[in-house]
Amino acid sequence: MGRKGSRRKGSMFAKILFGLCVSFMLLLHNAFAEDGKLRIIAFGAHPDDCEIKAGGVAAMWAAQGHHVKFVSVTNGDIGHWKMAGGALAQRREKEVKDAAKILGIETIVLDNHDGELMPTLENRKTITRLIREWKADIVLSPRTNDYHPDHRYTGILIQDAAFMVTVPFFCPDTPHLTRNPVFMYFSDRFQKPNPFKPDIVVAIDEVIDKKVEGLAGMESQFVERGVSGSEEIMPKNDAGRAEARQRVSSGFARRFERTTNNYRDKLIELYGEEKGSKAKYSEAFEICEYGRRPRAEELKKLFPFF
Ligand SMILES: [Zn+2]
Repeated sequence: MGRKGSRRKGSMFAKILFGLCVSFMLLLHNAFAEDGKLRIIAFGAHPDDCEIKAGGVAAMWAAQGHHVKFVSVTNGDIGHWKMAGGALAQRREKEVKDAAKILGIETIVLDNHDGELMPTLENRKTITRLIREWKADIVLSPRTNDYHPDHRYTGILIQDAAFMVTVPFFCPDTPHLTRNPVFMYFSDRFQKPNPFKPDIVVAIDEVIDKKVEGLAGMESQFVERGVSGSEEIMPKNDAGRAEARQRVSSGFARRFERTTNNYRDKLIELYGEEKGSKAKYSEAFEICEYGRRPRAEELKKLFPFF
């Protein structure tokens, strides 16, 4: 009795312990999924696109405890004048990871070749799964009017996943979303067939230093100028490299000032005359018609900065 009894007691104890562990893990999982914070996923074609277009607003969401993930849909493995292939892909992955640390967000790079992205069914399913797994409230992406085929097809892939993320028997291996997220486009200056029209413009003055620091750290792209570089422009020493990073930072800051000047009316409409006219740096986004269409009040909850 004694021995058998203690063995039974032992196994009962193990079962209870196991049960407790499972409950605790479920609790943790639910707490993560439903902590009342927003969940944002942004897709760019290359390891730097999301950081340029949405690095500021991402840092602002993250500072409030919201969950932000950047996805580069290609690995950027031809994005340089001198190096290419696996070595460049690894270098660029490290660059986005460093930027993500500065911004306080998560980031991943999908292993598709740069310059060869296609809007295939397989890629559509990959994007759908990523949006579902992230339980996204907001999905950001480029528009489909763009000079670069990877940007265009990233836009198409995300548009193709909008709505499909809610369809139970499309990709049934990943639980569907019961609510279509709000899909939004990054800003751009392309005019045909229709220009970008902002629905929301966020002043990013409070995080501009973080944003440009993250970008200047992407040396393969900006200090060494990616595909447009050459031996002549390569910094010759540490001082030259530091100077180049400084140049990159101020160049980007001027670029985000232009966004403000282009959409000043919208900033004033959203922030009011005083704050709206003082804003210096901005990022702008347009609502995609294929996702949920938020009213003005909901949009301000999704972008809780006003
Ligand atoms: Zn790009």
